[in-house]
Amino acid sequence: MFQKKILTMGVEREPECLRIYGIGCRHNESKYSTDQLPLLQPLWNLALENQYYTQSPLFPIVIGVGSFFLFTLPFTFIDFYGKDWAWVKKYRIHPETTVTWPMVRHAAGLTLWNQVLYILPVSIAQCTWTSDTELPFLAPSLWDFLWHQFACLAIYDFFIFVWHIIHHRSRFLYRHFHSVHHRPSVVNCWVSQYVHPWELFCVGIFGTTPPWIVGAHPMTIWGFMIFSAFLGVETHSGYDFPIMLHRWFPFFGGTVKHEMHHQRPLVNFQPYFTWFDRLFGTECPGMQAGAFKPKTLLEWERKEQ
Ligand SMILES: [Zn+2]
Ligand SMILES: [Zn+2]
Repeated sequence: MFQKKILTMGVEREPECLRIYGIGCRHNESKYSTDQLPLLQPLWNLALENQYYTQSPLFPIVIGVGSFFLFTLPFTFIDFYGKDWAWVKKYRIHPETTVTWPMVRHAAGLTLWNQVLYILPVSIAQCTWTSDTELPFLAPSLWDFLWHQFACLAIYDFFIFVWHIIHHRSRFLYRHFHSVHHRPSVVNCWVSQYVHPWELFCVGIFGTTPPWIVGAHPMTIWGFMIFSAFLGVETHSGYDFPIMLHRWFPFFGGTVKHEMHHQRPLVNFQPYFTWFDRLFGTECPGMQAGAFKPKTLLEWERKEQ
């Protein structure tokens, strides 16, 4: 019954909304059989049911900012309450360091300051001048959703790599902008957003451009905003848990490589992947849980001396 209602909605909203996302134009309702619908359709139907909120240009901003704060919660919890738990200590990259309230208060303060001073006005402007998002009737296919996530992340990672290397190689740009991100003495999840407004602006542009380049479905865009917020927090967490992505994907640098960048700022410019650092000779193996230096890192240090 509900499916039928949604199907009818889809027909009413054709043709533009379906054409925009390359799904193709179909005018006959009977062509939509429920077994042809994408796997993600039940989830997408929730967005269609709540169009009043999900069509708003504010929605992607709210989920991006909201998921950042949500993802910091578990890491902040273990930073404070789990710091003496053996299993937490075991996976801390620098067990000799401790995250303190003043550190978090300071980083969270700058993050909130940036949100209020820069993100809020942009959100208001977007709400005022941008029209509501046209939501297509069909969800993306699972394949499109996944490969677009990967493509968006790879493009975003490339943009940041170029920006990052320029902002380290130029003394002026480093001193006036990117050095802010390198100020905190102990890397923790809040450092992810501990940046100069210029960096915040650039990262914002780099994060919103890739979905546009690949022509991503709104559901994929929202997924990417949540995924990239998670990765920003994870790579700055200071932990090397076995479930983390870098343990599973060899081309993913993750937290151990980025932690090394905070120790040695002239290596590991890619925030997530490793291929460009490898290609340009700026890759440095990461220190692992318990400040363990793998053979590759010891060799790298020997060569550098
Ligand atoms: Zn960082
Ligand atoms: Zn840096």
